[in-house]
Amino acid sequence: MLEIILENIVTAPERLGLPAAYAESDVLLYRQYGRYDTVAVQREGRQLLERAEALQAEYDIAALPRLGKQYAEWSKKLQQLKFKRLLHGEFAADKGITLYVNAIRQECAEHGWDYAVYYDSVLVHERVHLLHYQAVLAHFGAAGAAVQSAEYKQAQRYWYGRQTEAAQAAVVKETLAEFARWLWCLQQGHLALAQAFLQTPEEARTCIPYYPYAGVRGLCALYVRSPQAAVRAYSELWQLSLTSWQQAYARIKEL
Ligand SMILES: [Zn+2]
Repeated sequence: MLEIILENIVTAPERLGLPAAYAESDVLLYRQYGRYDTVAVQREGRQLLERAEALQAEYDIAALPRLGKQYAEWSKKLQQLKFKRLLHGEFAADKGITLYVNAIRQECAEHGWDYAVYYDSVLVHERVHLLHYQAVLAHFGAAGAAVQSAEYKQAQRYWYGRQTEAAQAAVVKETLAEFARWLWCLQQGHLALAQAFLQTPEEARTCIPYYPYAGVRGLCALYVRSPQAAVRAYSELWQLSLTSWQQAYARIKEL
C-alpha cells in the first residue's frame, strides 16, 4: 500500500483518488508546541536561585525542604517548555490542502535545500493526511455522504478525537504522514533531506508530551533495520487508526 502511495502521490494523485488541486498561501504561520512560557520559566528559575542564596545567607535550614520541592516542580516545567515551528503545509477536513510557499522558501534558504524537492515533500505529507482522512470517512460509511448525515458527523468526531485522544490522534496522523514523506525523500534519492527529518530540533529535545512527530523516529529506525517490517508496521498502524486512536498510539509506543 505504502509503495503505491509513494509512487503516485506527487505525479499521479488521481490514481490514488486524490484531487490534483490544492491551494498555495504566502502567509507565515507558526505552530506552538509544549506547555510553558520560556520567559516565565526562566524568571521562576532566577527567583529560586535568589531564594536559595538568601537562605544560605540566613542559615535557614528549616526552609530548605520547601525550596527543594519548588526546585523539583520548576525542573518539570523546564522539560515542557514551549517552542514553535514554521508551518509548511496544512490539511483541514473542510479546506483541503494548503502549502505555505514563503515558509518553504525560508526553510530552503536556511538549510540550502532544493525548493522544488522540499515543496513536493510537503505535498506528500499533506496528501497522506488527505488519503488517511478519506480512509476514515470510508470506514464510517461517510465517503461522499452529505455533511448533515449521521455517518459524516460520526466520522468527523472520530477524526478530530477528544481531549487526550485528540493528542494521540495527532501523533498517529503526523507519524503516518511524516514517515511517508521521509520514505519518499529516501526513495527519490534526496538523502540529505531524509537525514534532516531525523534530527530532532533543538527545542524538541525536551520531553514534549504527545509531540506529534514522536512516532516518526521509531518507524525510521525500524526501516533501517528491516524495510519490510517497517512497511508492515505502517500498514498495521494505518488499519488500527481507522478504529482506535488509542490502540494506534499504543502501537507507536512499541516501535
Ligand atoms: Zn501533518
